Amino acid sequence: MVRDGGGEMEAMDGLDSQLDAETGFVDLVGAGPGDPDLITRKGMAALGLAQVVVYDHLVHPRLLDLAPPDAELIFAGKSRGKCALKQDQINALLVEIARDGRRVVRLKGGDPYVFGRGAEEAEHLVNAGIPFRVVPGVTAGVGVTSYAGIPVTHRGFASAVTFVTGHEEPGTQPSRVDWRALAALPGTLVAYMGVGRLASICEALIQGGRESSTEACVIQNGTLNSQRTVVGTLASLPGLSSDAAVAAPALLVVGQVVSRRESLSWFENRPLFGQSVVVTRPAEEGGASISSLEALGAEVLLAPTVQILPVESFSEIDGAIARLPHLDWVVFTSANGVNHLLKRVFAGGRDARAFGRCRIAAIGPRTADALAPFGLRADLVPKLSRSEGLAEELLNQVRGKSVLLARADRGRVLLDEEFRKVASVEHVTVYRNVDSPCLPPGLDDRIASGTIDWITITSSAIVERLFELLSARARARVGETVKLASLSPLTTAAANRLGWKVEAEAETTTWEGLVRVLERHKRSTRV
Ligand code: SAH
Repeated sequence: MVRDGGGEMEAMDGLDSQLDAETGFVDLVGAGPGDPDLITRKGMAALGLAQVVVYDHLVHPRLLDLAPPDAELIFAGKSRGKCALKQDQINALLVEIARDGRRVVRLKGGDPYVFGRGAEEAEHLVNAGIPFRVVPGVTAGVGVTSYAGIPVTHRGFASAVTFVTGHEEPGTQPSRVDWRALAALPGTLVAYMGVGRLASICEALIQGGRESSTEACVIQNGTLNSQRTVVGTLASLPGLSSDAAVAAPALLVVGQVVSRRESLSWFENRPLFGQSVVVTRPAEEGGASISSLEALGAEVLLAPTVQILPVESFSEIDGAIARLPHLDWVVFTSANGVNHLLKRVFAGGRDARAFGRCRIAAIGPRTADALAPFGLRADLVPKLSRSEGLAEELLNQVRGKSVLLARADRGRVLLDEEFRKVASVEHVTVYRNVDSPCLPPGLDDRIASGTIDWITITSSAIVERLFELLSARARARVGETVKLASLSPLTTAAANRLGWKVEAEAETTTWEGLVRVLERHKRSTRV
């Protein structure tokens, strides 16, 4: 996501002049249809300044991270049949918080003024004399359709598009929607909130004169990696959609433009689209892992089985830091090791010069990359990213020298043993690996029911803890319908010891290597 301080200032221009000390301010912000990167820069800037965020059910949780850490987050509902707050309560709440002099972001799915009751909220603010602003968003009718490969207008197929609410059962009297008139309109019809009434909507359109063979589709969870599209005709779609158990939020699109999907589908054609992948890495390492898989289209579930925590006492690390300039080599065996040691260096008021002339070895490219933000560069990165590679390439260089191994409390001892034969070795525990107490809710069920495609495993400790955390039903699925993808031969061996078959193993011991192997596997199994 783009974050640009200058841009934020520009985007908020004029806001302060509307603020007075007594009364707060409300920004009605459109969050976009799902994909959190579809929010506008102005919306992001407003979130960055919010003291209170009142958000809806369909807002992506990642957008809430854009609010300052001390902002108050209030969930306002609404999913079908469930309302955290009623509309008049929301209206009153916005006024009340703003009267407190606070800056409020009212964050709504899609665009605030498209079927979102944003107008009612704004009218309420006007009546209460609260200054407000509207930050438009990408509405589902435009965003979700684009991601499904459907242009809502097209020179050759549709010169008009109609957005309609399917909230009301067709035939209700008095009716707010004239389905007969809509059926007669040429062009594309996009119905929001209609999935529960799909059969009667399609029927009303046919009754109104639309051909029953008109192309139609429903798109569920549009713009997210869990997007699903079911395509049919006005006659066949209700049956197809209920067979596929399509549920809200879903959009109905009717018209010839639906056929454009055949050539314009792009989102659903990405290499890992439709694959659900569990990432068991610690949360600290999960962020980048998630984005690389998500960019390829996978639905990613983060389920750390091991947590990375700082050491309980820093005295050992501080002693090692003080000795750094007198040592010949420091060896890092993970990016976590780099981060924990270097953060301590900086916390103590020092910087990269604390290393003096001490040389630095990193076990692999990611560990080496972790040095850069601290102004350091690795002197040695072995070609083979594992302890054996490091031992082989470094052994000659450390002969007769002093070496510090910066590592986790539970790490492999191979390096220690190898180096001790030729050098003076000390090691310092710079972080701890602690078993996670449980898996995220619902994950065990998804594994047990086989609705997960892959679980990635990146160390022996991680796979062993995963085994302990899973129910017997879920364990039985792993290695079978729920495939395992392993980072290295050692991790594979650990999984095999637990009786689990490993379907894919990275060719290079890096996360990128693991992702590549998943991609390749998908390609080779595609029909
Ligand atoms: N203000 C929102 C619409 C709110 S009404 C906007 O401008 O998009 C909620 C309806 O929008 C849902 O019932 C569904 O029909 C549609 N919708 C919202 N997000 C969607 C998504 N990600 N995928 C499919 N439909 C979605």
